[in-house]
Amino acid sequence: MTDTLPRLLDVLRAQFADRLMTSDAAREHHGSGESHLVPQWPDAVVMVQSTAEVSDVLRACNAHGVPVIPFGAGSSLEGQIHAPHGGISIDMSGMDAILSVQPEDMDCTVQCGVTRQALNEHLRATGLFFPVDLGAHASLGGMAATRASGTTTVRYGSMRDLVLGLTVVMPDGEVIQTGGRARKSSAGYDLTRLMVGSEGTLGIITELTLRLFGIPEASQTAMCSFDSIEDATQTVVMALQCGLCLNRIELADSLQMQAINSYCKSDLPELPTLWIELTGSDAAVANDMAALRDLADTARRFELASDAEAAARLWRIRHDALYASRALRPGIKGISTDVCVPVSQLPACISAILEVIAETSIQAPLVGHVGDGNFHLVLLYDPADAGEKAEAQKINKALVEMAIAMGGTCTGEHGVGLGKKAYLPAEHGAALDVMRRIKRALDPNNIMNPGKIFDL
Ligand SMILES: Cc1cc2nc3c(=O)[nH]c(=O)nc-3n(C[C@H](O)[C@H](O)[C@H](O)COP(=O)(O)OP(=O)(O)OC[C@H]3O[C@@H](n4cnc5c(N)ncnc54)[C@H](O)[C@@H]3O)c2cc1C
Repeated sequence: MTDTLPRLLDVLRAQFADRLMTSDAAREHHGSGESHLVPQWPDAVVMVQSTAEVSDVLRACNAHGVPVIPFGAGSSLEGQIHAPHGGISIDMSGMDAILSVQPEDMDCTVQCGVTRQALNEHLRATGLFFPVDLGAHASLGGMAATRASGTTTVRYGSMRDLVLGLTVVMPDGEVIQTGGRARKSSAGYDLTRLMVGSEGTLGIITELTLRLFGIPEASQTAMCSFDSIEDATQTVVMALQCGLCLNRIELADSLQMQAINSYCKSDLPELPTLWIELTGSDAAVANDMAALRDLADTARRFELASDAEAAARLWRIRHDALYASRALRPGIKGISTDVCVPVSQLPACISAILEVIAETSIQAPLVGHVGDGNFHLVLLYDPADAGEKAEAQKINKALVEMAIAMGGTCTGEHGVGLGKKAYLPAEHGAALDVMRRIKRALDPNNIMNPGKIFDL
């Protein structure tokens, strides 16, 4: 590659001029991201503006055998945008056009660099919205590539459920369409679902057709504080089983609540807490909120947000949880790990990992989309302290092993990248080899984000 890179850069420079960048600042920005892992910079960054340009870049990189790392907004947490083998970071943020909105079919088509915030701003007048609401500033292409989800996944599903079709540039530069606008199809292999969650290892998504939803008539937010995390998680299980009109149900432990109060200057009880939002018709929300109050009979405090503005503030605070956790140890990113288990296993999984954490010196605030059985720990360790690092890694490993043993997964939404690679054999067994065969068939020169998800 060392021989071919200068020739490739000449080819790309001839086409992209100053949209090809080799400065340290550009390479550092595109090779760091939000993970705790040591940054690994690409050799160059190219800013693209169209599917045709993406095709040109891939064709050139494939011909020269140089790796390509797609870059959306760089918010991923497991080293997905790192360049362990160098290569070209292809920055998709300039492809940010909303191409069409079909209100009558409740779908839209966007370029991959559009953020969910920009899409919802655009949709405001239509009464429709796109529901996957991450705590980060992320691109819809990156969200599809990591199969992202958010607080409303308990109601609307994740990117796996909401992407109807894609335009994808394959590693050799060929452009394909997957799926379409039909709500269902039995026509052949589901390449859309193959691409969603492939973390840029099979091709580059340049356009997405997404499902939209009507904004519900009514919504109400409750905050419930409990004496124990077991009481909180049992309430989650019961609320799900009762089929309440839940839109979001999120958990934070007492350390996370302390972190939030300190970071957000709030005054919330520093106890295990559930944020719960119900949405639907006025009558359904009122009825189900009364039922929820009865169900949460172990709650020490059950409070309703007084109005829409107060509710919005509570949800903003929830979305600040990661940065609040990091602020407990300024300058330290920590391992932001996530697992997902069948909901019935949630109380046992959380109790067991809290016992493991208690035996270490690591601070590990817990927060999660518990309606899906998905929760996160931020394992705050000092990378310069070998002892702390080993303890944080031990907790992460114990958590993942527990989740897999309970029928869950090593990552509910953050993806594999570099950080969770070691756990895929235990989770997938022989199926991991089928993934390798798919990768080899579609990307025989292994140029697409090599070294991520698994090694070949
Ligand atoms: C504060 C904070 C809160 C977060 N909250 C959540 C959360 O609630 N839920 C959640 O799921 N995640 C969350 N994340 C993680 C992160 O936001 C998601 O992984 C997000 O989907 C990444 O999108 P991105 O545009 O930043 O992608 P990037 O980080 O740029 O890329 C992620 C991966 O996708 C690939 N990729 C990017 N664009 C494309 C494309 N167009 N075609 C093919 N591959 C592509 C990249 O190569 C890389 O492998 C959070 C992160 C932070 C920092």
